[in-house]
Amino acid sequence: MNGASFFKTGVPTSSAPADPLAAMFRPACSECGSGRIRWAQLVDLLRLVDVDDRPRIHELLGYVGPEADAWHCSDCGGFGAFA
Ligand SMILES: [Zn+2]
Repeated sequence: MNGASFFKTGVPTSSAPADPLAAMFRPACSECGSGRIRWAQLVDLLRLVDVDDRPRIHELLGYVGPEADAWHCSDCGGFGAFA
């Protein structure tokens, strides 16, 4: 999957706006330093990450719950949750 098709396909954005406070705490990807990160609810990351990464999302869901703020990096695919 290339980046163009990723954006063309599009992912429905969460109905909840990204939390600006959370964005302040994590303005860039912790994996690669990219600023091209997308905020969503943690449960929405299941649609954004690779299949191989989904077990990690489920693990996070167990800790912080589906409505936790989470980020996903458009460049490296890194992600994290913000409880
Ligand atoms: Zn990254």
